[in-house]
Amino acid sequence: MAETKTYTGGCHCGEVRFEVTADISNIVACNCSICQKRGALWCFVPAEQFALRAGADSLADYQFGRRTIHHLFCQHCGVGAFSRGVSSKGGETIALNVRCVDDVDLSALRITPFDGRAL
Ligand SMILES: [Zn+2]
Repeated sequence: MAETKTYTGGCHCGEVRFEVTADISNIVACNCSICQKRGALWCFVPAEQFALRAGADSLADYQFGRRTIHHLFCQHCGVGAFSRGVSSKGGETIALNVRCVDDVDLSALRITPFDGRAL
């Protein structure tokens, strides 16, 4: 069921809205210190496949550790719909929290564990 489609999504209160073109059928559940607590399910997409449609002013940035990833979240509702970083190949990358895609059926997705804690 791998299929690249354009999806919309956003945070809980609706301030932050995005559009993304991606195959979201294969996603990653990471066990690193922040993902474990947040419960995000990630799909990594090149930044050019992602567009922030609303809410740039509502985003706050959280960084920790090596400070390479921007864990953005909505200042109003606290939901982190996506993070920004740079891939190992050097490309601007969006880590999309698939839980924030509109009407996503989480039970239809294949979730792969990722041992981020070991990094
Ligand atoms: Zn919000």
